[in-house]
Amino acid sequence: MRQVETVAALRAALRDAPRPVGLAPTMGALHDGHLALVRAARSECATVAATIFVNPTQFGPNEDLDRYPRSLAADLALLEREDVDCVFTPSVDEMYPAGFTTTVHMDGPALPLEGAARPGHFDGVATVVAKLLLQSLPDRAYLGRKDGQQTAVVRRLVRDLDIPVEIVVVPTVREADGLAMSSRNAYLTPEQRAAAPVVFRALSASRDRFRAGQQDVAALEDAARRMIEASPLASVEYVAGVDPDTMAPWGGLGPCMLAAAVRIGGVRLIDNVILD
Ligand code: AMP
Repeated sequence: MRQVETVAALRAALRDAPRPVGLAPTMGALHDGHLALVRAARSECATVAATIFVNPTQFGPNEDLDRYPRSLAADLALLEREDVDCVFTPSVDEMYPAGFTTTVHMDGPALPLEGAARPGHFDGVATVVAKLLLQSLPDRAYLGRKDGQQTAVVRRLVRDLDIPVEIVVVPTVREADGLAMSSRNAYLTPEQRAAAPVVFRALSASRDRFRAGQQDVAALEDAARRMIEASPLASVEYVAGVDPDTMAPWGGLGPCMLAAAVRIGGVRLIDNVILD
């Protein structure tokens, strides 16, 4: 596995690499959810590249940028074991050199839910993902379903900017009790960790009711919200049934993404299920 830290070295490493090239972009603190992206890429692509970059522009001023978990040595060992060919670990200055002024601004799927709760977050995501895709020019980029709105934003981004890459969405990897794996789970105290699976339990219960014929999404949102808030540690930011492409409220046709953001103590967890 080659580790590269500059855009020039990344380009040189991938220029003549066997194609297809698959890219798994991450912020590190890797867990099995990230490794699922890498494994999907490994199974479908001749060359696999991963990126580890804690992107400051997608964090708000009062968010957890400074304390975001970082474990580069362990991450590199994990990627090596997954037979990754190339890992890009740029510095902030490499990605945003002095004088950097261009931002990808997105409306549409970037506006509600996470976009409303975290102003500027998806502009930061769209900008860094556009850069990573243009730097590495992969054939496929692998994203996790867990960040469902992010997958919609990135699909819109590559369509709107004609970036020639196929976006592959990988199912959410969960702990045995259903909690979606996330680097931020490390912030949970044991008591909060014990409460956290309620988010997926509630979303799953609404999915079961949908499959049993309850198509009134407002009622399903409400039921999930009440189930989560029955836990004294959990406070719901939103539970919303939306169109998985536009993130607009579900219109009754096609699949519905039931997405939730929940605060448990100081930790903000997101998760979603597809009602189909
Ligand atoms: P992050 O490091 O949190 O920015 O995530 C990097 C990529 O890994 C994103 O595409 C995430 O959606 C994906 N990812 C994170 N957690 C999971 C999970 N539990 N299952 C599947 N993919 C995940």
